[in-house]
Amino acid sequence: MHTLSHWINGEARPAGNGLWLEVFNPATGAPHARVASGDTEDVEVAVAAATAAFPSWSSLRNSERAAWLEKLATALETRVDDFARAEALDGGKPFALARDAEIPRAVSNLRFFAHAATQFASESHHGEAGLNYTLRAPLGVVATISPWNLPLYLLTWKIAPALAAGNTVVAKPSEVTPLTATMLGELAADIGFPAGVLNIVHGPGSEVGEPLVTHPGVRAVSFTGSTAVGKRIASLTAPLLKKVSLELGGKNPTLVFGDSDWRRHLDTLVRSAFQNSGQICLCGSRLLIERGIYEEFREAFVARVQSLKVGDPMAAGTEVGPLVSQAHFDKVMACIARAREESGVFLLGGDPLPRDGWFVQPTVIEGLGPDCVSNREEIFGPVVTLQPFDSDEHALLLANASAYGLSASVWTRDLDRAHRISAQLRAGIVWVNTWLMRDLRTPFGGIGASGLGREGGVEAMRFFTEPKNVCLSLSP
Ligand code: NAD
Repeated sequence: MHTLSHWINGEARPAGNGLWLEVFNPATGAPHARVASGDTEDVEVAVAAATAAFPSWSSLRNSERAAWLEKLATALETRVDDFARAEALDGGKPFALARDAEIPRAVSNLRFFAHAATQFASESHHGEAGLNYTLRAPLGVVATISPWNLPLYLLTWKIAPALAAGNTVVAKPSEVTPLTATMLGELAADIGFPAGVLNIVHGPGSEVGEPLVTHPGVRAVSFTGSTAVGKRIASLTAPLLKKVSLELGGKNPTLVFGDSDWRRHLDTLVRSAFQNSGQICLCGSRLLIERGIYEEFREAFVARVQSLKVGDPMAAGTEVGPLVSQAHFDKVMACIARAREESGVFLLGGDPLPRDGWFVQPTVIEGLGPDCVSNREEIFGPVVTLQPFDSDEHALLLANASAYGLSASVWTRDLDRAHRISAQLRAGIVWVNTWLMRDLRTPFGGIGASGLGREGGVEAMRFFTEPKNVCLSLSP
């Protein structure tokens, strides 16, 4: 059993209240660790450490902060297998997915923002009213709150720009998957990362998250998680006038046109629906298929999904692992029951696997229209629906029939259509003939129920800094 403490001021520290939470292996349903179950007192200690570290960290040259991030990236890179194993154990994701994609992406996040620190520039304006230049100062202590589905990937996606811009951080990872965040705290201490600059505080959202986001010493909150919790954080922080970025849920459409090369892309189309058991905010959970190819596509898609290897996350070749927790398994099974009540036709799946752990069969449903709850609410599991469409307008109508607006993918060889549809989709991110292809410089985020603000590249550096305009009179 691992014991996972907070990581505050460069040191491991149990919760002040002496409480622990159990952490489970989703592939067996058995506990594999215990994690500090912090509260307000631990938040106070962490914010105090981050406050004390801020003056020296923020006054380093950008290139010096970049060197620290680069050093952390390199240290993580030498431990990819360890971190990937930890992610598989904690979250049930296939080890190969963590090793080949998610932990390398965490390394890239740190490295990308190390470079960003040295490239970030501010504007000057002249020729109209004096000479103006913009200072962009770090905010101070910032809070990051991340979910369980991509634990280290999303934690580093937030802490890297915050640190690069000169802030100090109190990070709250999900209490469901706290292992890699703790390992990162330890790794940072091992390489001599300045104490108090990066602090990790564990515990439930109500006990740690809320005191953290409302703490008067915390200047900004970067949150990724569910829409319900995002709304709660918005309601707590709005009266305090805090800067907030909210990356929330999705109910993303996948638009497959008859002219597309969908057979060649079938593996990607299936991956876009079922990667990480569908527990990625960017997964396409509503497949919209042009009627002319509907039956042919349905047959090929279902056959490919049926061949997905579901099983032990550590076994070679596993493509789909379990869901992350008992609570999430119960939620997904309730969504499946609701799809049955809504008269969905199950083409595949719909049941748990008869084994220990929280495994649900990849599930494909048809016969549900855009008004069904199954097509409106995020399920966040290995469950997709298929709907036919008759025209571009019909496809757009179905695609945009959602309160969410995170991402969409469009599959067509018609260039005009690709541009036209991309412009009209109500989503923050559109992929054409691909999925989850990411250039870290691009704006990342959603609209509507999918969130507020954008991450990535210069957007993140701007979020974590405060602009101040200085105007000089050029009059004699
Ligand atoms: P969640 O909202 O339950 O929890 C996310 C984090 O918030 C956890 O660390 C949790 O402890 C904390 N939290 C919970 N209640 C809180 C509160 N009252 N105050 C402060 N913090 C609190 O989400 P989850 O179940 O961990 O993750 C799944 C959700 O995340 C899905 O809805 C998914 O779409 C979304 N997500 C979005 C993105 C994106 O980039 N838009 C990426 C990944 C996941």
